[in-house]
Amino acid sequence: MTILSVQNLDVRHGLLQAVRDVSFDLAKGDVLALVGANGAGKTTLLRSLAGAHLPAAGRILLNDQELTLVPSHRRIAMGIALVPEGRRLFSQMTVEENLLLGKTSGRPGDWTIDRVFSAFPNLVPRRHAKTGHLSGGEQQATAIGRALMSNPDILLLDEVSLGLSPLVVDRVYAQLQSLLTSGTTIILVEQDLGRAMGVASRVICMLEGRVVLDSPVKNITRDQVTKAYFGLH
Ligand code: ATP
Repeated sequence: MTILSVQNLDVRHGLLQAVRDVSFDLAKGDVLALVGANGAGKTTLLRSLAGAHLPAAGRILLNDQELTLVPSHRRIAMGIALVPEGRRLFSQMTVEENLLLGKTSGRPGDWTIDRVFSAFPNLVPRRHAKTGHLSGGEQQATAIGRALMSNPDILLLDEVSLGLSPLVVDRVYAQLQSLLTSGTTIILVEQDLGRAMGVASRVICMLEGRVVLDSPVKNITRDQVTKAYFGLH
């Protein structure tokens, strides 16, 4: 069942066209890895899906509802949640307060604060700590937890590994794994091709704003994705 349909999307930063004629459909439970070199347009695409940057042309449909020009706060209520690059937590507020904020802008559903704490047990002892005092991994878990609290149909994750040590990235990915098996639909922007392909069911590679490869992960090798990544066909 198609949950998200992106049709001929163009997104600009002034004169620069960062996303060019991008189209894809996502089915419920898909885990899409969005890969590509720096500047390929991945973050811009994700931000346009979240409503943080409106497209110049094309359409975005969520559950057959037109989303293209809907402002970002309403998209959360419609079922799209973004975990932005750099996490953007409220550093003077506690873990619990940040998580509860996710609830207020979201919609009813299965994700409760207790479920977030059981998905991210490393947060339990940090429940009343200000997020500014947390480690990078704990902050990332809080940011993902906050997004889940809005009960999204689609979770958008922008470079969850950024700035984290390999060991901590392993832990965050292990926690993500439990989300994946619970059937959450995810779009994951990730620099590390191996990690991305390790968890995703599908991969889209962007090059200079365009989709140059779109395939189920099981039908493609890492070498083929690497070639697309560098524009070598
Ligand atoms: P990265 O991995 O570096 O984040 P990316 O694939 O996510 O790369 P984007 O950040 O979407 O790529 O950038 C796509 C293009 O748009 C780049 O050329 C970038 O310089 C440009 N760009 C991104 N944000 C802005 C902005 N706010 N204003 C102007 N140009 C921007």
